[in-house]
Amino acid sequence: MNVIELSKRLPRVHLIAAGTGALALGVALLMPSQEVAANKSQVTLELKAPEGSAPQLPLQPSPASTGETVPAAAGSFASLTPALPEDSVVTPEAHTPVTATVEATPEPAKEEWLRIEVRAGDNLTTLFKKAGLGANELYPMLNSIESPKALGRLKPGEFLDFVIEEGELRKLRHEKSPLVSTLVTKEDGKYRLEEVERQPEARAIYRSGTIESSLFLAGEEAGLSQGKIMELATLFGWDVDFALDIRKGDSFALIYEELFLDGKKIGDGEILAAEFTNQGKRFRTIRYTDSNGRSDYYTPEGDSMRKAFLRTPVDFARVSSRFNPNRLHPIHGTRRPHRGVDYAAATGTPIKSAGDGKVIHAGRKGGYGKTVVIQHGQAYSTLYAHMSRIKPGLRRGSRVRQGQLIGYVGSTGNSTGPHLHYEFRVNGVHRNPLTVDLPKAAPLPKKERANFEPLARDLLAQLETQAQTQLASQ
Ligand SMILES: [Zn+2]
Repeated sequence: MNVIELSKRLPRVHLIAAGTGALALGVALLMPSQEVAANKSQVTLELKAPEGSAPQLPLQPSPASTGETVPAAAGSFASLTPALPEDSVVTPEAHTPVTATVEATPEPAKEEWLRIEVRAGDNLTTLFKKAGLGANELYPMLNSIESPKALGRLKPGEFLDFVIEEGELRKLRHEKSPLVSTLVTKEDGKYRLEEVERQPEARAIYRSGTIESSLFLAGEEAGLSQGKIMELATLFGWDVDFALDIRKGDSFALIYEELFLDGKKIGDGEILAAEFTNQGKRFRTIRYTDSNGRSDYYTPEGDSMRKAFLRTPVDFARVSSRFNPNRLHPIHGTRRPHRGVDYAAATGTPIKSAGDGKVIHAGRKGGYGKTVVIQHGQAYSTLYAHMSRIKPGLRRGSRVRQGQLIGYVGSTGNSTGPHLHYEFRVNGVHRNPLTVDLPKAAPLPKKERANFEPLARDLLAQLETQAQTQLASQ
């Protein structure tokens, strides 16, 4: 990975921010939790429609998602079950489709929402008072919702929204974040609490640049965030050494998502496709989410962009002791081979799994101290020793993905100071992790090709078209 080398090239001021981005990036790029993003590539393609702003999920008409249809639903349900005795009639709540809460539109046409800002010292009682509601409205609600805590902690600057009809509370909403709020609805004297999640709208955007002095400056000029620049460098970092190989005139182009909520940009989404031309050689990549919901980046031919192993399982660390079969042991003074590489890093520095695999040891292991050993397929295994802490929940049998956090640098076992001792074995034989030939990660399986190919064609065509449009407009 060339993230470290890249950050050396960045202006000093940016080092910290870029470093943070890189750490987060390692996780974001390589971790498995991409289900949310799973639909995005497909969805975003639809965004290419002339309007360019189709919502990500089919929007329910706003009344349907705000509970207004509940009486109707209850009515129709009742009409279907006239013969049921009273006590077996299922309450309307039970039949409110869960999907109705997925995309809630907070401002339906008819309802009047009263917004009260939370100030220091406020609590539900004072806020209800400000809304003109008394304890006789507050306590029945608190008593009947299962977990009043789910309403969330109220912080100054946040808002509580009320719908009040004829002096009675109908709805109460607490916005925990732009994407998540808690909604209490009162119907027929009953209260229902639900978490309402909103999906940001993803819009695909094209950006490109040519390097004059550094990727970082060119990226900034092209309007990329530091995070996106690091992400781009990481994507191509397997093929291009961003510390040594970059030349003036190298260029990049990418299509990625920007996320909007109520017309306001709230952040960046994933890179969908990108290309990097280094010294005349062009590299291209496409993000693809397979049928298991797992996302990764592939070449247009469907090969993985990655190697099967990270060269270095810790960021921002320096090699403090190399692989050396004839080393003198620092503590015992005897000739003892050093069968791995030591990376000096601060206690608590995250350690990542070098590759996809299965944990075969997680716990203390003699002089190694707290140690994780991971088996990668038949031939390979990696070992991470002297950890201060193994990631909670990680145990023998756990599956891990490349780049996933497995523990933290420490100095447990026979160790003179905080460092990671890292071993790489091929068919049981210790190899030098710094020089061993790393195999390519697995290509896209055959059964995924039918879905991948049209997506790749489309995205690559868009990269081309956008580049030409830009040329024409210059
Ligand atoms: Zn060591």
